[in-house]
Amino acid sequence: VASGQYVGRFAPSPTGPLHVGSVVAALASWLDARAAAAQGLPSTWLVRIEDVDSQRCSPAAAHTIVRQLQLLGLHADGPIVWQSQRDAVYASALQHLQRSQLAYACRCTRKDIEAAWLAKGVTKARFQTLIYPGTCRHAVAVEPVRAWRFALPEPDCTLVTEGEPGALAKLQTQAVQWHDRRLGLQSQNVCQEVGDFVLLRADGAWSYQLACIVDDALQGVTHIVRGEDLCDNTARQLLLQQALGVPAPQYLHVPLARDARGEKLSKGNHAPSIDESVPQRSLLAAAHVLGLPTQGQSEAQAPAQLLAPWVAAWAARYPLKPPGAPLR
Ligand code: GLU
Repeated sequence: VASGQYVGRFAPSPTGPLHVGSVVAALASWLDARAAAAQGLPSTWLVRIEDVDSQRCSPAAAHTIVRQLQLLGLHADGPIVWQSQRDAVYASALQHLQRSQLAYACRCTRKDIEAAWLAKGVTKARFQTLIYPGTCRHAVAVEPVRAWRFALPEPDCTLVTEGEPGALAKLQTQAVQWHDRRLGLQSQNVCQEVGDFVLLRADGAWSYQLACIVDDALQGVTHIVRGEDLCDNTARQLLLQQALGVPAPQYLHVPLARDARGEKLSKGNHAPSIDESVPQRSLLAAAHVLGLPTQGQSEAQAPAQLLAPWVAAWAARYPLKPPGAPLR
């Protein structure tokens, strides 16, 4: 059994009630923490409400999620953390980055970003993903300040246009690599695929990237288990952790629940709330997505009874690091 302490978390954005897709992420992270405990590790599973975006999130949805987790039998081991109450910690992380010149002010609107790419002769197809071209990175006076961006490590972020010889090869060697416990070796060239990303948005909201990694660090999270739609945030988060000098957790990205047409279930495509009168049904559906054994189980059983046998199945499928290896 690995040495140390396990801390995991479920970090929903309260834009609506839980649906089967979010139950998959909640169940997977809960099982990973319980499997760690079953392997003899001191283990904690936390719930964090990611409500930094007041436009999209609502307290009512957050309270619904908290109630639904109780009904599902997924009980947090500590007080729930609300990101909307933690401006001060995110501000201090941003200050730290500003002092280290790893954050810079940006005045670009979406239109400015598009115009900058066009001026460089870059095709519309590429800037449609809104990769930041770095316009404000070396600007002397930025007025008005709209957002704050992370300055990707040099020379990774040398600004290049597509035609520049050798540029692609140079950037490719700068990809961030990490190991995902399910997906294996992952790699992303953040400069090419994302650019200097936003830390504090133009509307005053903290970005998901900043708030998430600050809280993961302050809560001592060692293992992140979440849906694979979030996988492509990992490289940015690893870079931010490095910049702030905090340890990187282990990552495990789990399969997504899909509708009959193969589309990811999300609030965006109107996934229905879980049925609170039969929380077992959502647990069984989530277990199915995660490939957990459900033979002989039924909605007549209590949630805790359904959950119990999945812990061992999970531990066998996703073992923690081998004995002696550090947990992080
Ligand atoms: N709040 C994010 C979401 O609901 C998840 C954050 C995470 O697990 O890193 O999509």
